[in-house]
Amino acid sequence: MALIVQKYGGTSVGNPERIKNVAKRVARAHAQGHKLVVVVSAMSGETNRLVALAKEVQANPDPRELDVVISTGEQVTIGLLSMALQAEGIKARSYTGPQVRILTDSSFTKARILKIDEDRMRRDLDEGCVVVVAGFQGVDDAGNITTLGRGGSDTTGVALAAALHADECQIYTDVDGVYTTDPRIVPEARKLDRITFEEMLEMASLGSKVLQTRSVEFAGKYKVRLRVLSSFQDEGEGTLITFEEDIKMEQPIISGIAFNRDEAKFTVLGVPDRPGIAYQILGPVAEANIDVDMIIQNVGQDGSTDFSFTVPRGEYERATAILEGVKTHMGAREVRGDRTMAKVSVVGVGMRSHVGIASRMFRTLAEEGINIQMISTSEIKISVVIDEKYLELAVRVLHKAFELDQVVS
Ligand code: ASP
Ligand code: MG
Repeated sequence: MALIVQKYGGTSVGNPERIKNVAKRVARAHAQGHKLVVVVSAMSGETNRLVALAKEVQANPDPRELDVVISTGEQVTIGLLSMALQAEGIKARSYTGPQVRILTDSSFTKARILKIDEDRMRRDLDEGCVVVVAGFQGVDDAGNITTLGRGGSDTTGVALAAALHADECQIYTDVDGVYTTDPRIVPEARKLDRITFEEMLEMASLGSKVLQTRSVEFAGKYKVRLRVLSSFQDEGEGTLITFEEDIKMEQPIISGIAFNRDEAKFTVLGVPDRPGIAYQILGPVAEANIDVDMIIQNVGQDGSTDFSFTVPRGEYERATAILEGVKTHMGAREVRGDRTMAKVSVVGVGMRSHVGIASRMFRTLAEEGINIQMISTSEIKISVVIDEKYLELAVRVLHKAFELDQVVS
């Protein structure tokens, strides 16, 4: 008998029929004697609908009130799933994040979990009750409703698993695991049986949408055993996210190719080359809470230099306004922006012990005439920024060049 946290995403609870199917799956695990905490997302499309609704009323929604609105999607699904479980003859009780008391900080729309009260859940579990918890939400110290950022139900699932010392956290989704890359772009992409936390973290933060990045960080930190599975298939072990030392067999050098279309690039030209300029440019960007990713500062010439970096495409307008101000203030020549960039990354822990990965990547892209605009590397990944129109081509040729379509035995 194990304590298992199961999380079901929006498509898995997308209509009443699917909610009933989830209930059947939960019922099967319950019948095996497991204690179950089930975390659900809002029905698919619902959170987007709520965001759009808010924007119709207030172009730039007040973050506190936005959280009040967008947290409601999950409240609907916990109630419906509990009803479906009761219809299966199972005791079930639903809780919103604030009812559990998932305590977060007060950063509305991207709050972080600070503490979880497990008492109420434990009592229910001991009574043989299935506990159904709304993902994506919590409450701050002052009692305000908060949300955890898009995709945040994954983090709720992992955080509950950590708090309850669950044996496993199972993330049920519409794919049957983590793939070498997006199969919609590369049909030969393969499902991975295992991937390390570090690789998964890179894949998630680099654009693989299977798990919210923060949930992977959380699972790695608290050693939560995490598995991604399909809610539409009865068979299959999914993908286990695990620690490097636990993987006994020979690892492929590259585990996957991640990409992200939503990038924008800025270059500030003719910046006076003196100490403090990186701070002068990026300080105001950070203050506006805009994530900066890749950064390049050129070698200075004749007392001036160029400075480039990328931001999420959704922040393009705000960043442009900030940089125009910065330009005037520091006497730079020009700000150039390009909102149609994409990032492609090859990821693998095997890179640590193999040379020549970067050159193979660059040669592959060169052979297709794809211009690399920025490069960054870490111990286990190499990322390049390219024009978005070459993205799919780049992913396909790299997948082939690194033989990810071939089964490792
Ligand atoms: N419903 C929220 C979203 O769409 C949270 C989640 O599904 O994980 O972002
Ligand atoms: Mg999700």
